[in-house]
Amino acid sequence: MENSNHFGKVYLIGAGPGDPGLLTVRGKTILEKADVVVYDRLVSPGVLSLCNPKAKMVDVGKMPTHHKVKQSEINKLLVKFAIEMPGATIARLKGGDPFVFGRGGEEALELVAAGVEFEVVPGVTSAIAVPAYAGIPVSHRGIATSFHIITGHEREDKVDSGNVIPAQVGISLDFETLARCPGTLVFLMGIGNMNFIARRLMECGKDPNTPLAFIEKGTTPFQRTVMATLDTAGKTIARENVTAPAITIMGGVVELGKSLAWRKNLPLSGKRLVVTRAAKQASGISARLTALGAEVIETPMIETRDVFPCCHAGLRSGISNSSENKVAEPVEFEDLKNFDILAFTSTNGVESFFTQLLASGNDIRILAGKKIASVGKITEKKLLEYGIRCDYVPEDHTGEGLGLLLREVVDDESRILLLQGNLADDTLLKFLPKATRWIVYETLPIAELPDWKREAIASADAVVFASSSAVENFSSIVSTHSENASRLSFCIGRMTEASAKKHGFETITSDETTMDSLVKKIVEYYTMGENA
Ligand code: SAH
Repeated sequence: MENSNHFGKVYLIGAGPGDPGLLTVRGKTILEKADVVVYDRLVSPGVLSLCNPKAKMVDVGKMPTHHKVKQSEINKLLVKFAIEMPGATIARLKGGDPFVFGRGGEEALELVAAGVEFEVVPGVTSAIAVPAYAGIPVSHRGIATSFHIITGHEREDKVDSGNVIPAQVGISLDFETLARCPGTLVFLMGIGNMNFIARRLMECGKDPNTPLAFIEKGTTPFQRTVMATLDTAGKTIARENVTAPAITIMGGVVELGKSLAWRKNLPLSGKRLVVTRAAKQASGISARLTALGAEVIETPMIETRDVFPCCHAGLRSGISNSSENKVAEPVEFEDLKNFDILAFTSTNGVESFFTQLLASGNDIRILAGKKIASVGKITEKKLLEYGIRCDYVPEDHTGEGLGLLLREVVDDESRILLLQGNLADDTLLKFLPKATRWIVYETLPIAELPDWKREAIASADAVVFASSSAVENFSSIVSTHSENASRLSFCIGRMTEASAKKHGFETITSDETTMDSLVKKIVEYYTMGENA
């Protein structure tokens, strides 16, 4: 066996049943640093959005109608990534728990055989969490002293001399024992076979009046519970059009769901909304829409990149295509000796500066004796993470505030260096005309969206636009927007509305140009009938 240290390490991670809040802390930590994420169909967009944005995202579980990667190919793929990427973190992300009908064991065996190191990160299984979100405890004193998790779909379809033989259920399920079992029965993957399963259980003596619930898309904003009895199971599935993913839970505990269904139907439950904003701004409105029940697909339209190495301002500009955008004159960190004060105006600036400083072979000792200024508390805190305390932070956290403060505290001889992004305005230079500016990072329109995000956008109910530039960027990136995708948009203000109209969107516009007003409008639209 080869030394496994030469390989990447594979983490078999349970993503939980859908609600990203149910991902474990361990799972999240690994996903945030993963180099590759190999994920299944059941993993929700909310969990995928927590993955390292730079990770290679590999979808091995296309929708049933599309080609699905075979289990044997997935096993090989994991080994291949591990071998080809020494030192890499390879996340194998599965719905629920990886070892509960997740074929995680098969993947682990393959990794062992290839000498690849791995770790299992258990997940919250749908078998227990989905009933819990419907207010059904799988065990309850006096009602059920055991619960049993059963697959309702035994194996994959087989292909025999070119003919597909559909998966059969009932070959090895011991219905006699199951029918006698007094505990709660939870069936995964069983919706298509439930008619058969219910009939067999009744034939073997299980009470036709046994309460039963189907819970569809549990823990997501699309969760739905449908109650029935063993006797009416098949008919209910057809009448209510219960579709996968869903679990079936049988037994007396189901009755408790009538009193314990704690999850409220929220105004935006069941709506998938795309929120397009600059990465940092998005979270405010996203959090509010999520709290109102929507599934939010956040799509930042811009990204920041380190300018490596940093360069003098004016010589390189990331976003414009002006003719001066030709020569980048890199700075030498040695030149820092020519400055007395370093001023930072953003956390991005701090991160990019120190990343590049370290990459150049220097370290913070190069800053010995210099005064450090920050535009505000957040930037100040970021500097502290790099072991730097600030000497100057203005009361009012603006460029103007910092300019006024520095003008007051420094003397004419002080040599000031501003470390900023390419889009920083000239406010500080107006106050400090002798200062020098280095560009340490640049802001660019986002180049591409991962597949899962494109797919989520294509199936969204509407897009939320907070500026005309968001409309422009969105329309240029999502140019291959699926034909069936919704063209409904919620816009903040008339300017945004005009841009959205120009790009062929139907528009609902907030009365005022505030986030409050926009959120209110969205709720009104969905609660007062979609023609409000
Ligand atoms: N490893 C997973 C189960 C994989 S089998 C786990 O531990 O949860 C896939 C089946 O899980 C689906 O067919 C469905 O029965 C169930 N399932 C997974 N997520 C679900 C969800 N959010 N709501 C309802 N059922 C779900």
